[in-house]
Amino acid sequence: MSIKDIITVPSDTLKKISEPIVNFGDNEKKLIKDLFETMYHSKGIGLAAVQVGILKRVLVIDVSSKDEKKNPMSFINPVIKNVSKQTSIYEEGCLSIPDTFIEIERPEICEVEYVDLNGKKKMIKCDGLLSTCLQHEINHLDGKLIIDNLSKLKRDFIIKKISKIKKNPDRIIV
Ligand code: ZN
Repeated sequence: MSIKDIITVPSDTLKKISEPIVNFGDNEKKLIKDLFETMYHSKGIGLAAVQVGILKRVLVIDVSSKDEKKNPMSFINPVIKNVSKQTSIYEEGCLSIPDTFIEIERPEICEVEYVDLNGKKKMIKCDGLLSTCLQHEINHLDGKLIIDNLSKLKRDFIIKKISKIKKNPDRIIV
């Protein structure tokens, strides 16, 4: 297992559409382990393969709270099948857009078809944080980011701010 570098905006990779996995083998199992390790290391609750530069339709999630047991969930080739009319709003952050939180309205409930680690087709119906997180991560597989919902002006401002942070050298006090 290894911790991967997470790609941050601005990045063309993050805008690309990920490819479905046809054969699930050792490489994909390793990828999922790496995604979990990277996600836990970065204290995120979800991570898609594209965020570490791998354009495959795979994502991992763990929405358990700090004092609960870990609950790692992985989704291969996830597809949203149904969504509710009711919506919910969360202030969402993204490991690829550091220090930025945006209020996003999404369907409250979603039904998602996916393939599990054993290659079995499964269906999950979820609400609350898991529903929002799953929709956020599936957006990543389609090259969509939470800043895409903002006006161009606001989006450019955020990207500029993050680019500046990226360029700055490490600050030290001696
Ligand atoms: Zn994200």
